[in-house]
Amino acid sequence: MTSLITYPRTVGDLKAVIAQGYDEVMKLMRDNKLRVNLKRFLQVLFKGRNHDDKTLEMFNRRLLDWQNARRLAGKPDATMVYHHSGVHVLTGFTFEEFKFEKKADRTLYDFERNTEYPKIKQKWLKDIAVNHTKVLLDAGFPQAVIDKMARDGLNPIVGGKKYQVHHRKPLDDGGDNNTDNFILIRDDMEHRAVHGHYNPAELSIDRLKPGESVMVALPTPPADSIVYPNPAMNYDSERVANVDLLSIYDDH
Ligand SMILES: [Zn+2]
Repeated sequence: MTSLITYPRTVGDLKAVIAQGYDEVMKLMRDNKLRVNLKRFLQVLFKGRNHDDKTLEMFNRRLLDWQNARRLAGKPDATMVYHHSGVHVLTGFTFEEFKFEKKADRTLYDFERNTEYPKIKQKWLKDIAVNHTKVLLDAGFPQAVIDKMARDGLNPIVGGKKYQVHHRKPLDDGGDNNTDNFILIRDDMEHRAVHGHYNPAELSIDRLKPGESVMVALPTPPADSIVYPNPAMNYDSERVANVDLLSIYDDH
């Protein structure tokens, strides 16, 4: 018999819901008979399960399948990502499959992250403000923000929303501080969603010790844009049903 709970809030209630069976839970969500707080649901879901590499690899694989299905359907490239406020689709991003190897040399990584990156980033922000003004204007940056960026090279704030410089290929994997590896991305929610803890790639990477590697399907920004979102190029985020991502996490 189906539970009458429609908005379980406590850990106990969430456990009871999940105990009904994952297929049933997904069905209730699709039928809009059950709503859950995404983060709490995932916390409960993951706590009782043993996340071995095989399971995480399967989740990564499913996202690649999801991407392939979209392509076959003629839809534009996009990734589906976790954010605590809800699941989003980032149009223009792609899931790139590769072996992520956490840098064994932590001294080198610390240098690249804490010494090299801040300097090169500041120079790059000044550079794009001067040389890619129109792109930034089209992406919704006011001229005054661009002018300030050209002067101070600091992370810009647009309409109260902070932007950050993200490494397309992660610095901790094999990525570097060449500026063609940079993209300026809105922090909340796009950048946070790209690094969202409950993304399969992020879960896989979080488990790595220096020198270890794992196959991931990593959300990777569009190569032809220096800024995200960029509605002028139809690169933008869209809220989708949480159940779309939760379906990826079915190993029952
Ligand atoms: Zn980042």
